Amino acid sequence: MSNPPLLRLESLSTRFAIPQGILDAVRRKPKQYLTAVDQVTLDVESGDTLGLVGESGCGKSTLAKTVIGLYQPTSGRILFQGEDLAAMTRQQRRARSGDIQMVFQDPYSSLNPRMTVRQVLREELRVHDMCPPEEMDRRIVELLEMVGLTEQQADRLPSAFSGGQRQRIGIARALALNPKIIIADEPVSALDVSIQAQVINLLIELQQRLGLTVLFISHDLQVVRYISNRVAVMYLGRTMELGETDPLFAHPLHPYTDILLKAAPRMTAEARQKKTAAIHGDLPSPIHLPTGCRFHPRCPYATDLCRQAEPELREVCPGRFCACHHPLEGGGV
Ligand code: SF4
Repeated sequence: MSNPPLLRLESLSTRFAIPQGILDAVRRKPKQYLTAVDQVTLDVESGDTLGLVGESGCGKSTLAKTVIGLYQPTSGRILFQGEDLAAMTRQQRRARSGDIQMVFQDPYSSLNPRMTVRQVLREELRVHDMCPPEEMDRRIVELLEMVGLTEQQADRLPSAFSGGQRQRIGIARALALNPKIIIADEPVSALDVSIQAQVINLLIELQQRLGLTVLFISHDLQVVRYISNRVAVMYLGRTMELGETDPLFAHPLHPYTDILLKAAPRMTAEARQKKTAAIHGDLPSPIHLPTGCRFHPRCPYATDLCRQAEPELREVCPGRFCACHHPLEGGGV
């Protein structure tokens, strides 16, 4: 029997109740819910870099925050090495928190502006009991060097660093706990293009050197293509397509993937802001999801079946999964 994947999400859903006004409560209007993550099933194998891509608002970040325990899932399981994190008590969860670490889009907002880098890393190591006090300084220097910073920079405050250097500090802090998985949520989208490449190359180097598994979340297809060996395409909380990077980019099976890819090469830095304009129509509300296939209001191939029945994610050919009643033959690009 083959080993279970390092991380398996099984029918994972995260919904949020919409706050009601007093009048709605008095009139006993039924509560409304925003479905951010809807029945997502995904395997992340050890050593994988799985790219999770989709428009902003499609649930990628909520999925990441649910996996690391910032949000409680509404249903489903988060199996890490076979153990369900979603079923653990807060205390059990805290004991496993080092295994899955997150790198955020804006490391500055998660760094205490009054603490030097050395203090930030020391605190992380101390709270999680990662090394004896006499080893701390050596470990801090090791972590800084791993991310391309020097010991001389250890006693500076976050404000003394550039955006790319702050992201390196965020990565060093995540590495301090010897994680098995790093979840990087739009880690380069706030950086200049030239700096983006440096941070992505650093992540690739660390992934290979430390044998890390990475869940890389981005709205940018080209970045995801560069770093990932597998890709999951998400739309309105659901996985629409999943497969190895090269075949998926060469021959997308889902109309949404196809449209995203056709839009991507034409994108200039200016047009990047207007990315959704390349796709017909607006992203529907996650409070009032369309019937049937949730992509049908924007899909050029929609049929009556699509408007009525939601397609399941199924294996269309070996290793290629697609949630569509009419997958594109031989890919659409
Ligand atoms: Fe388009 Fe129908 Fe496929 Fe949905 S199920 S993506 S509407 S063809």
